[in-house]
Amino acid sequence: MRFLNSAVSRPCPETHEQNVSMKKKQITILAVLCAVVIVALLVGLAVFIRTCRPSCASNLVHIDTCKEQFALASGGTNLSEISVEDLEPWLDTPWRELRCPKGGIYSINEYGVDPTCSHPGHTL
Ligand SMILES: [Zn+2]
Repeated sequence: MRFLNSAVSRPCPETHEQNVSMKKKQITILAVLCAVVIVALLVGLAVFIRTCRPSCASNLVHIDTCKEQFALASGGTNLSEISVEDLEPWLDTPWRELRCPKGGIYSINEYGVDPTCSHPGHTL
């Protein structure tokens, strides 16, 4: 009986190799799945950051809207040189935080001329 028990508990060499091979495959599949999940999370995070950050075009639209509000409030005077201080009452974000995502610099410009960004291709 003792001999029979030890024979049953010892794994068959072929079955043992198959089990080891199967475990290696399972670990490889698990590693690939983890890599796919991590890449998907990083892509999702990048898309989330890109969509949540205001675009340059939306900043230019906001600046232009503030210029219109300033023009209405000032009664049409002093529109040739509009300053940051003139727009601040209508800016929902402080001027220093209004940033082009590509590092361009905004110019308010005079009334009737669209605000501009120094980055090539960024227009209203
Ligand atoms: Zn820009």
